[in-house]
Amino acid sequence: MIPSPIVATIDFAADGARHGFLRLPYSRDDSAWGSVMIPITVIRNGSGPTALLTGGNHGDEYEGPIALFDLARTLDPATVSGTVIIVPALNYPAFRAATRTSPIDKVNLNRAFPGAPDGTVTQKIADYVQRALLPMADLVLDFHSGGRTLDFLPFCAAHLLPNPEQEARAFAAVEAFAAPFSVRMLEIDNVGMFDTAAEEMGKVFVTTELGGGGTARAATVAIAKRGTRNVLAHLGILSGEAEPAPEPTRWLDMPSGDCFVLSEDEGLMEPMVDLGGAVAAGDVVARIHPVTRAGLAPVELRARLDGLLVARHFPGLVKAGDCAAVVAVAL
Ligand SMILES: [Zn+2]
Repeated sequence: MIPSPIVATIDFAADGARHGFLRLPYSRDDSAWGSVMIPITVIRNGSGPTALLTGGNHGDEYEGPIALFDLARTLDPATVSGTVIIVPALNYPAFRAATRTSPIDKVNLNRAFPGAPDGTVTQKIADYVQRALLPMADLVLDFHSGGRTLDFLPFCAAHLLPNPEQEARAFAAVEAFAAPFSVRMLEIDNVGMFDTAAEEMGKVFVTTELGGGGTARAATVAIAKRGTRNVLAHLGILSGEAEPAPEPTRWLDMPSGDCFVLSEDEGLMEPMVDLGGAVAAGDVVARIHPVTRAGLAPVELRARLDGLLVARHFPGLVKAGDCAAVVAVAL
């Protein structure tokens, strides 16, 4: 395969804190021979494990980028044993446009793996992560939130995996993150995901959903900052004790596609349960009101499992096919 066109402007192997870029050549109307400049920080001190911390895989999710830009600035190399690679806004064009997918090629980075060195801009980012960053990492922490169209109960998550030892290490890292909720996810549609690429390489992969609505809150940013340092302490990269969560994490299961409540209609969504609310199978979690004329009955959307409401559609209007709500099962 041809080499990646992306060039790192910093050395991954030298001790200290270095801030630079992943420079991705992108010649275009407003910049002949120009490049996309993706910020990256590498903080290294001697030998030890390597953690790869990423935000902005989707460009409209903010807890990860806030926590990671802050960490890049404040993490003291003297407190580190090993290497921390920080990419606060991985799909940088999407992040700058405040959109889920890239405005350049409309590709969702989290469905673009393993990527292609001669593909579109987003495919080139995926290829660089796949072939340059992932092989260096022992653990990947990839931040997500709900973006502009979903809102989540704050949780850290890992996937059910065929390798029980790899799965146990991932769930131990989730426990260490100490979010208010911790989720065991069975991924229904995992082709092309960063998660799958890392897991197939045998890496410990941990992700989050920390809020949404295309913004961030003080409480969810605090969870992201604490969780990041806790995972680094768990790996032995950061010295000192992990910061305990105010409440013990509550484990939830997302065992099947039955968790997802999809709308087959367009209209005005009336939430019937708020985030964190208990639901039983058959309960109405939302009603979709037709809006083309008055006097029509709403369509009722029902939970298919007993559990907690962990996500909801964020904008008030839904389209056919939208995810209206997600139910997870308490363990
Ligand atoms: Zn996301």
